[in-house]
Amino acid sequence: MPTPSTRSDGMHANRPTWQRDECPPWCDGDHREQDHEEDHAHRSTRASIAAIARTVARSASDLPVDGAEAVDLEVAVWQRDGSHQTWVYIGSGPSQCIEISVSSARRVMSALSALLGPPAVPPEDR
Ligand SMILES: [Zn+2]
Repeated sequence: MPTPSTRSDGMHANRPTWQRDECPPWCDGDHREQDHEEDHAHRSTRASIAAIARTVARSASDLPVDGAEAVDLEVAVWQRDGSHQTWVYIGSGPSQCIEISVSSARRVMSALSALLGPPAVPPEDR
């Protein structure tokens, strides 16, 4: 990933012609002229989180059986170029993700903090 050179006005040198807005402060600035139209967006670096996800299977008698599997969650912030709506992505791929507004993400953080309390209180993942 090339490191963009940022000018004093916040724009990156070699800015592609499709880019209408300057990069938000959290954008990694990795934009190229040949980026597909779907990729005309500002994206943060992704935080990877090793996580344990619940799975549900059915027993022979058709009762739910909880299981667990390791997943790599990613958390990132993005905004389509030309839009002022910023999204928080939390997921492990396009089929298992949510994308919520920044204010929604802050409410989720607040709710989790209230539910879980300090980090040492709940048992750690095994
Ligand atoms: Zn950008």
